Amino acid sequence: MSLYRTNMLAALLVLLLNSGLKAQVRQGSYTDYHVHLQDSATVQLGFSMLKAFGQAPTKTDSLILNADTLIERLNRAKFNKAWILSNAYWYGSPFTPVENEYEEVKKQNDWTAAQAARYADRLAAFMSVNPLKPYALKEIERCADSKHFTGLKLHFANSKVNLFDKAHVSQLQKVFALANENRLVLFIHFRNAQDWNGKTNAEIFVKHLAAFAKETKIVIAHLGGWGNYDKPTDEALKVMVTYMHKNGAGGNNLYFDLSAVLPANANEGRQPAEGKGSWNAAAALPKRIGQIGLDHILFGTDWPLIDIDPYTRLLESALGTPIVREILRNTVPVDAGK
Ligand SMILES: [Zn+2]
Repeated sequence: MSLYRTNMLAALLVLLLNSGLKAQVRQGSYTDYHVHLQDSATVQLGFSMLKAFGQAPTKTDSLILNADTLIERLNRAKFNKAWILSNAYWYGSPFTPVENEYEEVKKQNDWTAAQAARYADRLAAFMSVNPLKPYALKEIERCADSKHFTGLKLHFANSKVNLFDKAHVSQLQKVFALANENRLVLFIHFRNAQDWNGKTNAEIFVKHLAAFAKETKIVIAHLGGWGNYDKPTDEALKVMVTYMHKNGAGGNNLYFDLSAVLPANANEGRQPAEGKGSWNAAAALPKRIGQIGLDHILFGTDWPLIDIDPYTRLLESALGTPIVREILRNTVPVDAGK
């Protein structure tokens, strides 16, 4: 073989390898498991919601965020996929009553499905509903039949779910069972109050709810809390971890998402919330994550709350890069939808 040909072949090989690597990097394989989009109706309702909570809107609250915006953002961070959680439950929130409520709920779920369908190999849609509404089961059934949804998102705080109310628990059992029957992944924002007993709430969850959705996956958002990592959140997690690892009791279908666990403005010097006394969030968080098992922890940003790269950096500073890399590699096998 002449030197010229050898050089040519070597150059070709380098080129091929480079393009292969580039394609790999460009595509990525990571998933953001907690994302919200917003159309103009949600932007408007969002303003009412913020007003009801006495909060001032930020610039992001007025932006329309659709599938294109999300895909651009995933590409920039070299992520491949995202789970889009519908905001339909806002329309059933007791905090912001709307006219033609159920029509608006349906519209919002359908819009979310349509956005995900535009990039069907990369985006998965989660429907949502206030589980206490009379139309809740009907809407879950409708969405499940459409086969456009991977899961169902519930927000216990926004829907004013109270696990100490037996009627709420019995309604939730029906919702869990229906999600289970249709193999919809249940994605739950669990914490519902500022003054919140994490231990007792989690005990009700493992004793009276979890068993109704054994054949599907349950993802607990924000590690069970609602932003930051404080002692009530840690106490709720402790109960759930015990349930997960009790032999034969089920619980292997439980997953936890890391979104909002570290405050979005921690880069500006804010530390994770500290509990009273000697309890230390920075020490408790990695310990609890280790007990859960890294394979059941999912990376999520709760975007537009924060973007992928800054949140990854925050997590790396709290948990260390190797652990975050391992968490990023996790995938959840799902049955429903696409
Ligand atoms: Zn969220």
